[in-house]
Amino acid sequence: MKSNDLLSLLSRFESTLSDFSFEELGSEEASRLKNSFQNFKKDLQNRVYGEKSSNGQPPEEDSQNDHPSKTGSEESNLIANVSHEIRTPLNGIIGFADLLKESRLDKGQLINVNAIQSASYSLLEIVNELLEYSKLASGKEQFQRIEFNLFGLVRDVIFLCNTLITNKKVTLTSNITQDIPEFLIGDPSKLTQVLLNVMGNAIKFVNEGEVCLNITQSETSEANLLLEFEVKDDGIGIAKDKIDQIFDPFKQADADTASKYGGTGLGLSIVKQIVENLGGSINIKSNLGIGTTFKFTMPFEKGNQNQKTTGTSERKDSPQDLKSVVGLNILVFEDNILNQRLIEQRLKVWKCHIHITDDPEFGMEALENNDIDLVLMDLRMPIMSGFEITKLIRNSDSRRIREIPIIALTADYTIQDKEKCNSFGINDYLLKPFSPEELLSKLVAYQNYHERPVQSSESAKRAKVKSSDTSELVNLIGLFNDSSEDVVVLEDLVLLFKKNVDEFIANAEIQLNEEDVEGLAFSSHKIKAGLVMTRANSLLKTILEIQNGCNEFPDWKHLEFLYVRFVNDYPKVERAIDKALKDLKEN
Ligand code: ADP
Repeated sequence: MKSNDLLSLLSRFESTLSDFSFEELGSEEASRLKNSFQNFKKDLQNRVYGEKSSNGQPPEEDSQNDHPSKTGSEESNLIANVSHEIRTPLNGIIGFADLLKESRLDKGQLINVNAIQSASYSLLEIVNELLEYSKLASGKEQFQRIEFNLFGLVRDVIFLCNTLITNKKVTLTSNITQDIPEFLIGDPSKLTQVLLNVMGNAIKFVNEGEVCLNITQSETSEANLLLEFEVKDDGIGIAKDKIDQIFDPFKQADADTASKYGGTGLGLSIVKQIVENLGGSINIKSNLGIGTTFKFTMPFEKGNQNQKTTGTSERKDSPQDLKSVVGLNILVFEDNILNQRLIEQRLKVWKCHIHITDDPEFGMEALENNDIDLVLMDLRMPIMSGFEITKLIRNSDSRRIREIPIIALTADYTIQDKEKCNSFGINDYLLKPFSPEELLSKLVAYQNYHERPVQSSESAKRAKVKSSDTSELVNLIGLFNDSSEDVVVLEDLVLLFKKNVDEFIANAEIQLNEEDVEGLAFSSHKIKAGLVMTRANSLLKTILEIQNGCNEFPDWKHLEFLYVRFVNDYPKVERAIDKALKDLKEN
């Protein structure tokens, strides 16, 4: 059968599903549906990976080959087409199974529908990874070449990795040598993907111990450099005779890895393809029972915005910087009251004049009536987004207002956001949660913007990469430092945090009842900053899961389950916060 025939069959399958009445499905039929679905999955794997595979797994013989069993461009195209086309009906199956779950099902039927859904999700994961792998193998994957902040990227990766650690004692550390420039040109999303995969594996295979990311510069010239990334863990390790295979698709070190740790065995083959496509190399050293070290290199160009740092890693706010920002007139667009208070507190200490609002009208008035030097702009706000307000500012009749520097404040900064920021005329960004030093460096950089259109701070602080102990329920030290070590301010912030949580609990309940997916996504986005600041990692994990679940086909039952988990976990966290606050007050 030709690939087109298969594709048209699949789309017919999809339309048949639309006419299908799941309400009439009995438990026996549901079970037959599950079986036939699993056969379909197995058959598909056999077709894509060759008939030799009798158990639905890809064939063993090709372990020396870096590519899947059929690697010609025709086969790659077929894999890409099949994977791509299969996602639509698969999403249909997931959506219909959701609908089915809402009808009155008995326990047995529910178990069957859940099995269909979980099989669909794992098939979707395989299909997505397969699609990516085939694109990489056929050289069709497009790589970006944009300027990005390496230190910010690593901080995000560490933050995300910390959220992966649950119920075990794993410490994450990271070191970047000081000679590496802050801004590089390359593909930040691919670098993030590789780091998340390798570090995610390390976290997965360490039960108790340490995962360390070291970044050094191994070659450098005027315009380019080669970075070496080392991810070292003291986890379960890999047996010597298995090491050579682990970059092959669908290969795991042990037969029981998938059942014990999950995964498809595709991650490292994708990582290898990405690294090599970008002109780097990857290797691994491992000792069973002792640990594993992955090393990979990646070439980059040096960025244009690089700031020469003064050599030492820790920089205290220099008296000149502190003096130079005194009296700056700053307008802050931010709707989260906790963030409002935090920024206000910082700016007050530096003797800046502050106007804070989430209301575009009030903000535009403040711009007209005051000689504002700088705008800090939260990108996600309820009345009007940061992008829309930026548009208003950039289209103003007054040249002074039009040219005011705008710095975006954002927790989820993606490449798309960067492009959007540039196109809307946003000058720079600060990743939340940001340290006082990072904020100060931006103020210094943009304080005389009108005289010096693009000016970076000579002594701007590098993004500080820190790890946090996630075994704790909360950690208020960061917030305490941010409050200028003033317990009264901290107490105030904690109160606002609790208010934020109460609001989230009330709003999310309504949004769940009304199945308002956008509202729920927004509420969970809003609560995230407070959870990051208080290092309430277990709650944060639940919120990230809720955010992930707010997609095109929300599983309302699962979202409700996550919400209940949040509500149940919160009292413990609240008690831990009260205790941490009390301890800080007493010291
Ligand atoms: P997955 O994690 O989805 O199984 P990968 O391709 O990312 O697939 O990894 C392949 C296999 O390599 C894993 O299943 C595991 O057996 C082994 N592996 C990868 N990283 C580590 C590590 N840090 N420690 C021990 N084993 C590892």
